[in-house]
Amino acid sequence: MAALLDPDFRKLVRHAEHYHNDGDIVIAAGPLPNSTAFRVHMHILREHSGVFKDHLAQIPPEEGLVKFDNCPVMAVVDHADDMAVLLSALYKGPGFFEGAKLPIFTVLALLDLAAKYQVPTITQLAMPHLQFRFPTTFNEWWGDDSEFEPVEAALSAVVLARKLGIPTILPAALYYVCQLPIKTILHGYHREDGKLDKLSNEDIEKVLEGKENLMNLNAKTNMWVLDIKVPSTSCKTRNICLPVMKRAAHLFVETRQMCAYKPFHWVDLNEGGYEDICRPCWRMLCRKRWDGIHGHWCELPALMGVEAEVEGWPQE
Ligand SMILES: [Zn+2]
Repeated sequence: MAALLDPDFRKLVRHAEHYHNDGDIVIAAGPLPNSTAFRVHMHILREHSGVFKDHLAQIPPEEGLVKFDNCPVMAVVDHADDMAVLLSALYKGPGFFEGAKLPIFTVLALLDLAAKYQVPTITQLAMPHLQFRFPTTFNEWWGDDSEFEPVEAALSAVVLARKLGIPTILPAALYYVCQLPIKTILHGYHREDGKLDKLSNEDIEKVLEGKENLMNLNAKTNMWVLDIKVPSTSCKTRNICLPVMKRAAHLFVETRQMCAYKPFHWVDLNEGGYEDICRPCWRMLCRKRWDGIHGHWCELPALMGVEAEVEGWPQE
């Protein structure tokens, strides 16, 4: 980070939101010549960020400054979108984190830049949003029935967790990474902004071994769930329900659900031909499925090869 004497600063593009008329410093983010200019307030930066505070204290004397719109320019290498998110969080404070679920890449960018620029308040506010996506308890996991999207973000989260030392998210994040195509696991994920997130060789090994562990557990759990010899005690359509349930194992194999890498996901029972069974039998199956996977949640860190790194993981 430095105020560079570069004529290209004249081509800076003013950011639509963070270009405050009374701002007294311009942050130029992203590669030249199309860097984005954020005109902000030094006191806000100083107040929240140890790194910005130190840097602003070293701004050279007036005659040595590069200026844009009469403000000193501070160039940073971060992507402009990430910087915009950090500034939004700094200016809006806790309100930025309330209400709607923040997009996962916003959360990752905030945690990354908050660590880089030493902004503990943002780290504190953003961390629950990360932990919500990658919970440690089965009830939290099961409670959020929305499918994690995009799954590639889990790979980016693992990279960030390794960089910043956030081991608690690793079991759930690596579990999601196991759902990705092998090509992405091996070669990494190119984000929309061009940034490449790539796993270390050690983590690639964990994921490949993890996939095998998950597939075995999934098959074992499904076999147990689908092994139904009697319908629900409240069943009034035994002659319909029982044959459907007995056939289900074959249907699971045919629809590739039997050996998927997803033992901790709800199985789409409709694909198993379950639409004809009665509600009590349906509930019985759902309960059995829950019981079948709930008991294995404590094994997730070991399945993903990170048990030594995760303290306090639920043991039952
Ligand atoms: Zn029934």
